[in-house]
Amino acid sequence: MAKLPRYKQEFIIKGKYLGATMRYGKQVHEETHAPASEAFFCPVCAAVWAICPTTDTMTQQVSDFMPYRVPCEQHDTRWGEIPGSIWKPWDKDFIATLPDDVVRYEFTQAMKLFKELE
Ligand SMILES: [Zn+2]
Repeated sequence: MAKLPRYKQEFIIKGKYLGATMRYGKQVHEETHAPASEAFFCPVCAAVWAICPTTDTMTQQVSDFMPYRVPCEQHDTRWGEIPGSIWKPWDKDFIATLPDDVVRYEFTQAMKLFKELE
């Protein structure tokens, strides 16, 4: 029998609920670990502008949050990030299963930045 994903990750960006996805545990050697919850904070104003809590659907336990340093929409990027973006190109599991509303949001953030660069 195929194993079903056990962890539910929700996406709350700028205070707005943008959906949820299911995730598998991370296999490390012989053990399965719950994927981390994620929090995105701005290094300029210290706002936590997005949170993506991950809940174990069997125990209802929320994983500890992992912080990511990305400027909010109001502050300029210094290191080439897209301000207000939760996109993590190095994390294929994360970006492959984003809810549709999050993908739409990400597209809009990228387009805003490209417009500013014109
Ligand atoms: Zn900021």
